[in-house]
This record gives sequence, C-alpha cells and structure tokens, in this order.
Amino acid sequence: MLSSGLNKILLGGLALATTGSCTWWTPPATAACKAIDFALPRGRVNYPDSPAYAKENTYWSSRQTDNIAPACFVTPYNAFEVATTVTVLRGLNTQFSVKGGGHTAFAGGSNSDGGVTIDLMYLTALNVADDRKTVSIGAGNRWINVSEALDTQGLVVVGGRVADVGVSGLILGGGISYFSGMYGWACDNVRNYEVVTASGKIVNASPIKNKDLYWALRGGGGSNFGIVTRFDVAAYEQPGGNIWHNSLIIPGAANASAIAAYQNLTVNGMPADNKAHSYMVLTHMDMLGGYAVISDLFHADLPNTADGVDESVPGVFEPFESLPTIMKTKSIVNVSTLSRSINIPYGSRQTWWDTTVKATDPSLFTDIVPLWQAHVEKLQAAANGSAVTPYLAFQAIPLNVLKAMEANGGNALGLKQSDGPLMIVQLTAQWADSALDDLMEKSSEEVIGKINNLAKSRGLSHGFVYANYAGSRQSVFESYGAANHAKLKQIAQKWDPKGVLQKLWKGYFKL
Ligand SMILES: Cc1cc2nc3c(=O)[nH]c(=O)nc-3n(C[C@H](O)[C@H](O)[C@H](O)COP(=O)(O)OP(=O)(O)OC[C@H]3O[C@@H](n4cnc5c(N)ncnc54)[C@H](O)[C@@H]3O)c2cc1C
Repeated sequence: MLSSGLNKILLGGLALATTGSCTWWTPPATAACKAIDFALPRGRVNYPDSPAYAKENTYWSSRQTDNIAPACFVTPYNAFEVATTVTVLRGLNTQFSVKGGGHTAFAGGSNSDGGVTIDLMYLTALNVADDRKTVSIGAGNRWINVSEALDTQGLVVVGGRVADVGVSGLILGGGISYFSGMYGWACDNVRNYEVVTASGKIVNASPIKNKDLYWALRGGGGSNFGIVTRFDVAAYEQPGGNIWHNSLIIPGAANASAIAAYQNLTVNGMPADNKAHSYMVLTHMDMLGGYAVISDLFHADLPNTADGVDESVPGVFEPFESLPTIMKTKSIVNVSTLSRSINIPYGSRQTWWDTTVKATDPSLFTDIVPLWQAHVEKLQAAANGSAVTPYLAFQAIPLNVLKAMEANGGNALGLKQSDGPLMIVQLTAQWADSALDDLMEKSSEEVIGKINNLAKSRGLSHGFVYANYAGSRQSVFESYGAANHAKLKQIAQKWDPKGVLQKLWKGYFKL
C-alpha cells in the first residue's frame, strides 16, 4: 500500500519534492494535500467548504477552530495510509498536526492552521483478545466506544473517565482513570503500541520490542515520537463494567472541611483501599448559589444490591458522609453511563493549566482557594455578564498509584514514590467571548505561579506538569526531571535523527 501510494506520487511528477533531499523549496500545504489525495484511495482528503471538512474541523474547545483552517484534513483508514501521509508530509516539508479526539483546550493543540491535519477518526477497530487479557484499540476511538464495547463483556481498561475524550491523547500524556488506584495510569497499562515513525515506517513498541520507544511513549507521546495507530492495553474483569459512584455537591462555605476530607483520602484512604478513586472540583455557578464544591467518589467493589440503588458507603468514603450537601447522588453504573453523565459539551472556549504539589498538608489546599477566588472575581468582572465558568480541581496521586506506575520498567513521567503522596492542582475555565482569551491565559498562568510559590515557601512544591491538563506555555517535559527529559530527547533523536517531527508537527509540547 505504501509503495503503491508513493508510486502514484512519483507518477504525479512530485518526485523531486518527495525525495526528502529537496530542502530549498517548500511547496504550500495544498501541494501536500494534493499529493496525499493522489496517493491514498479517493475521499481520504477533504478541503475547505466541503461538509466532510466542516465535520472534521469540529473540536471540543472552540479555540481550536476559531480562525484556524488547515489546507485540508486527511482521514487515513489504516496504519499504511498514515505511513503514506507521513512520508509525503516529510518529503514536502509540510507543517501538520494530528487529531485524536480533539480535546486539547488551546488553539493549535491538534489542528494545523494553514498546514495539514491528520484526523484519525476512522481508526476505530476494537478487538478483545481471546484470553480477555488485552484489548486492541484503534487510535481514533473515543472512550465511549471502548466502554460501550467492554461493559457488555464485563471488562474494563484503565482509560478515560469522560465519554467523548480521545483514546490517543489521553493515553499518550498519562491517563488518569477510575481504576488507577489498582493499576496506575492508562500509559502504565499499554502492552504494545503500533506507531508510524517520522520515517514513515510502521513499528511496534513493547517491553520486548523497541523498548526505548515503549518507555518514551508512556508519558512522552503526542507529537514527539510518531503517530500511534493502535494501542494494545490490559483488560481487567469488572462485572457489567459497573462501579459504585457517589456525587456530592457541597456548599462553597464548607470548602475547608471538604478539602480536608479529600486530602485525608489522598494520604490515608486511597493507599489503604486501592479500589477507591476520587477527584474534587471547586466552581462558581449561579445555579449552585455561587461557590460550590463537587466531590466525586468511585469504588470498584460493588455492594450486593438488586435494584442498582444502594445506601451503603465504602468505609474509605465514610468521612464524606458528615459533609453538608446541596445534592447527593449515589448509584451503581457502568462505565459508559457514568462517562456520558460527566461529558462536558462542545462549543465553549476553554483553558486548562496545572501544577503538582505535595499532598501532606491540608492547609496548603485551603490557602490555594483564595488565590483562585481572586482570579475568578477578576474574570467575572472582565466578562461583564458574558458566560464564564471557572474550576479549581484537585486530583490525587496517592502512594498506591505511584507504586503501580513502576510496573513494566516505569513510565517517562518522572514521578517517584519517595516524592509522594502528590496532588495535581488543575485550573480550568470555559467562557464565551474571545476578547477574554488573553486575560484567561495570563491570569491562569499567574495563579499557577502563585500556587507554586506558596508550595515552595512551605517546602511542599513538586512541579510536575501533567501534559493532559497543561497550558500551551507550560514546560511539560522539563517537569519530568532532567534525566528523563534528556533520555526522551535521546530516544527522539534515535527514532527521528533529522528532527522532522520536532520541526513539522507544531502546536503541542515539544522536547
Ligand atoms: C472533558 C474532558 C475530560 C477529560 N478527562 C480526563 C481523564 O479522565 N483523565 C485524564 O487523564 N485526562 C482527561 N482529560 C484530558 C485529556 O486526557 C487530554 O485533553 C487529551 O489530550 C485528550 O486526547 P484527545 O485525543 O481527545 O486530544 P487531541 O487534542 O486530539 O490530542 C492531544 C495531543 O496528542 C496528539 N495525538 C493525538 N492522537 C495521536 C496519536 N494517535 N499519536 C500521536 N499523537 C497523537 C495530538 O496531535 C495532540 O498533540 C480530559 C479532557 C477533557 C476535555
């Protein structure tokens, strides 16, 4: 397939440009679109003003499409077509990006303005191995496709918690899951990656094949090592794909006791019960009466109940029972239903930023709240009545998760048990008016700086920046530690000696 595609390009008279030796002339991206169109079966390349292009140029955050227009979208159907596409882009020196599920918040994160965007939407194969221990997941799947296929089989994978998010970006950056307490992050559970490298070769990376690439892709992925076309991930038995869930909405005034309960869960509760999982989110919404805390508690052990409604609470979550609530919803649900219920709709402008601190002192977290509230008030004043919804999220990395990350030779994230327990502090906002974009970015960056300074002043700083929640200006790979950053660069140099991906694949975190 690859060679026949290249033959077609040669016949098309573009041989000079596709040899890779022609560095003196860079044709416009439209030439690459035409060359790819010529090399792939009909219909794979879509141009502006076509309905297919409009469908592909749809992203979760409207900042990824506002005033951003690729010369074309390429929609390969298999790894060979991805390889052909990469070969042409490399040969024609054309800037590109790759869209998995398109959930990056910032402009250009997975869409290439004026370049070529490869949309993996048709790589949706999904196969459970006969021994039920592995699931092969095409890189264009969303998590809802995975959970819908697995729930009915009584299997789960360590994957995304929200329906529409892409499998690819989430796994390549790390991947926090309902099941991370037992098995680590999503990247720790990949058994094999099928990857198209910068040279257009299709290779596999696993603990026995191309071990260096396998290590690098576990946290260092997403635009530095190649386009992953398939993830083979570990599957685990979970009857009906069901989990226990309790969602609490707590009045903002009670945030100190809610945060103390979450910090205690992080340091003591979750390491003692690795089937527990949780996050806590502070927000300001008129419909909740202003400031409020949303606390979601999950447990992989199911109480014995016939009607799916259960009033019992796993012991690890008992301390949350005494918190005042505006609303409390307990349920036993399968992963698909749960992930759909917390889906965040498309159509807003979005920003995400994060940092990581040590989790050992609850007062650090309660003292972060006024820093965030000052930011919220600034945003609301500037919004002048237009829609703004701010969030401050705490996401634990307890010791049991850090331990699980050590499996299979460890990942590239640079998180050590000796540094833990840790807490990711995540700052996000969604808004409507593009005039607020600069303020949103600047103010979020400032608050992250203030949180880091506060943590440092108390000897509680860590500095890990989780790629999947990071702002476009954050130094993700530097935060993995000098040794891991250097190792990632060295592996990238081996697999892409001419730095093609560093140069042509723009818009996301580079080494
Ligand atoms: C509503 C929502 C819920 C979320 N929930 C979670 C969660 O539960 N746990 C968690 O850990 N994170 C979560 N995240 C963060 C999420 O993991 C990241 O936003 C992730 O990048 C999304 O992946 P994507 O494929 O949709 O994004 P994209 O924007 O398509 O891709 C992200 C990056 O990866 C690159 N890329 C995409 N596909 C490939 C590929 N196949 N090979 C190589 N590079 C590729 C893209 O070019 C881009 O640089 C959530 C995000 C949102 C918006």
